[in-house]
Amino acid sequence: MYNPKSHDADEFICHEEVLESLKYAEDNKNNLSVIDKILDKARLGKGLNHREAIILLECDDEEKNKEIFSLAEQIKKDYYGNRIVLFAPLYLSNYCVNGCVYCPYHAKNKHIPRRKLSQEEIKKEVTALQDMGHKRLAIEAGEDPVNNPIEYILESINTIYSVKHKNGSIRRVNVNIAATTVENYKKLHEAGIGTYILFQETYNKKSYEELHPTGPKHNYKYHTEAMDRAMQGGIDDVGLGVLFGLESYKYEFTALLMHAEHLEAVYGVGPHTISVPRIKKADDIDPDAFDNGIDDDTFAKIAACIRIAVPYTGMIVSTRENASCRERLLHLGISQISGGSKTSVGGYFNPMPEKEDSAQFDVSDRRPLDEVIKWLIQLGYLPSFCTACYGSGRTGDRFMEVCKNQQIHNFCHPNAILTLKEYLEDYASEETKKLGYDLIAKEVETLEADNIKKTVKEDLVKIECGGRDYKF
Ligand code: SAM
Repeated sequence: MYNPKSHDADEFICHEEVLESLKYAEDNKNNLSVIDKILDKARLGKGLNHREAIILLECDDEEKNKEIFSLAEQIKKDYYGNRIVLFAPLYLSNYCVNGCVYCPYHAKNKHIPRRKLSQEEIKKEVTALQDMGHKRLAIEAGEDPVNNPIEYILESINTIYSVKHKNGSIRRVNVNIAATTVENYKKLHEAGIGTYILFQETYNKKSYEELHPTGPKHNYKYHTEAMDRAMQGGIDDVGLGVLFGLESYKYEFTALLMHAEHLEAVYGVGPHTISVPRIKKADDIDPDAFDNGIDDDTFAKIAACIRIAVPYTGMIVSTRENASCRERLLHLGISQISGGSKTSVGGYFNPMPEKEDSAQFDVSDRRPLDEVIKWLIQLGYLPSFCTACYGSGRTGDRFMEVCKNQQIHNFCHPNAILTLKEYLEDYASEETKKLGYDLIAKEVETLEADNIKKTVKEDLVKIECGGRDYKF
């Protein structure tokens, strides 16, 4: 039976509730009075439940869809302004014992080169990432208790934080590793991680079991209840996501929102981020072999409806998507993107020729970070390298309280400006520098107009700029 407060995955992601919601949406997708009521509620900016949101996703009325897209854009502005946070993935190891049929790291793939970074190699990768200007990483690893035990992950996190190169440092390490135990989540928490990210891949249990035929990841309940264990281990920022293309997107969308509602209901803290990866070509993986691929229009609608349903959550799109798709999604709700990414183990320090490549998937947006920054500025966005929430302990419910009241810009906006300034001084090309300083001048004016400056605490400014005494 459906129970968002239950700790049992079969109850908080109840299959029957998903099916009933889909039927309800199908029956009401052209019912304009129901849709108008949902849109009125959505305009309050407090979110929607999964049943309301799936009706909006299903709706194919042209006028209503325009309203949906412009509302998503407005909500994005209200909560996140024009800021876009930057990060890069860091692949530690592609050893994996699982049999995920969509992932080239699956254990039966005998020809992909298997690599695992030593601590010395991690230092080199982190130095290369710092030389690009990155401050925030997401570490990635396959699941392999022998090659990638938790001790290896913890040691790697420690190494990453220890590298201080020129003015650089990594200030937030997010972690995307396989579902684990409460004890291990406690250890990750103590190691000072930012967000714990785990993609559900698919919420449909039957498909999940077929897509993960072997290895520990086969266990649907263990995987789906991972965020509960992470919370119990003290990690209060968790990131959800599904791999679009594996199952029906309507099913995934509904269940993803049920997962967010479950976290809210039990811990009072919804997902810190929601990622929207789509399955891509990779080594021995052909995305066309999966029947549920979604086109760019559907993808954009999904992003808009997630933004409306969960207004406070950070939304992430990676370099799996090309520049034009990313541009479209930025308008509709995305607040974090990766830039200059390499998805192979050791790819930053030592890029491999293609046939020796250990990449997890083909990157579509291959532009260097500086070009991504320049592009964001030209589109009117404010690139941010800020990690101050994490640095000053504003995580979990403390973050949510400020964010849900739409006050987070009081912190994020000035810090985004300062961290952009820092990036421009230390890493940018001349062209990006010029554009960036012009943008900063404009942004500072809006700051003074809003009087936000006064609300910024000096310690945040110092945390963000490595002690540099920036003034507006
Ligand atoms: N091994 C960890 C786990 O089991 O959750 C996660 C790390 S994995 C390196 C990161 C994510 O990449 C996976 O959760 C999956 O959604 C995604 N991924 C795997 N194969 C992919 C593909 N062919 N195209 C796009 N994304 C893929």
